[in-house]
Amino acid sequence: MTTVSRETLTALRALPKAELHLHLEGMLQPQRVLALAQKYSVPTDWDEVRSRYTLRGFSQFLELYKWATSFLREAADYAALAEDAAVTLHEQGVVYAEITLSVGVMLLRKQNVSGNFFALRNVFRRHAEAGTGPQVQFIFDAVRQFGAEPALEVARLAASLHNEGVIAFGLGGDELSLPLQEFRKAYRLAAEHGLHLVAHAGETGGPEQVQDAIDILRAERIGHGIAAIRSSAVMNTLANRRIPLEVCPTSNLLTNALDIQLNATHAKLERHPLRKLFRHGIPITISTDDPAMFHTSLLEENAAALRMGLSIADLVAINRNAFQYAFLSDAERKTFLGQFPAA
Ligand SMILES: [Zn+2]
Repeated sequence: MTTVSRETLTALRALPKAELHLHLEGMLQPQRVLALAQKYSVPTDWDEVRSRYTLRGFSQFLELYKWATSFLREAADYAALAEDAAVTLHEQGVVYAEITLSVGVMLLRKQNVSGNFFALRNVFRRHAEAGTGPQVQFIFDAVRQFGAEPALEVARLAASLHNEGVIAFGLGGDELSLPLQEFRKAYRLAAEHGLHLVAHAGETGGPEQVQDAIDILRAERIGHGIAAIRSSAVMNTLANRRIPLEVCPTSNLLTNALDIQLNATHAKLERHPLRKLFRHGIPITISTDDPAMFHTSLLEENAAALRMGLSIADLVAINRNAFQYAFLSDAERKTFLGQFPAA
């Protein structure tokens, strides 16, 4: 494994960065979980929190995700989480983020979605206006295994908050649970209301999931999509139709998605297919997915890509891609892209 030099890290840090695949709940830091557990008088201690945050595989990740997010019970909790998230993103030089909210889970827990949304959105807005946090827009995510009807409700809520900063509708969860056909109606409704469309696909599922997300759901960007490496037809579709993949390397490593797609055991991060997908001409973006749970940052994901054999010039292109394929107005896009060093 080659190490990344200090000069290279400085160059990476100086690049304007955008997160396109980032779950707000995945930014729940151990300290915040502990504070929320105390607020709700749930007996736990630092040792338990730390041990739960030490991940070994997908089922443990789901376990942690369920446990940590069980302390997000009211608007004030989401506001506190947003406060942590804005500060963390700002520290890494992230100037723009499209943050995914697991609205499917909020509905399952019978929470007031718009109450939560306005509380957290206002925190991000305040930071953006003060120059202490990134500009943020939101993606409302449904959970695949919860079924078509709850997904439709998430799409309706996204549509009702479209003018308040929600720009896209997406789908996450277990790819092997229900076929994507079931979600056609929810995606159609979202599109009719002017929302952009994204979907998690080809993370642990096969390349056909990526093709279906494009053909059936009309997804404009694919979350993960690394299964495409197993199908030259799907790679060609992505490259020819300029459909970006939101690649999250460390997430793929820690959830075992990398092992699944490479049909390997304990594959190293250096074997991640990011480089091959990029060289195939697919628009690649890099994100962190659930950085607090995967103990990573966008800077570290960029450094990991260097260790996979990409150059600084490649990473400039990849970081530009994030703005190129962000759901921004043309004027905003131009402003962000103008901050890049001249080629
Ligand atoms: Zn995700």
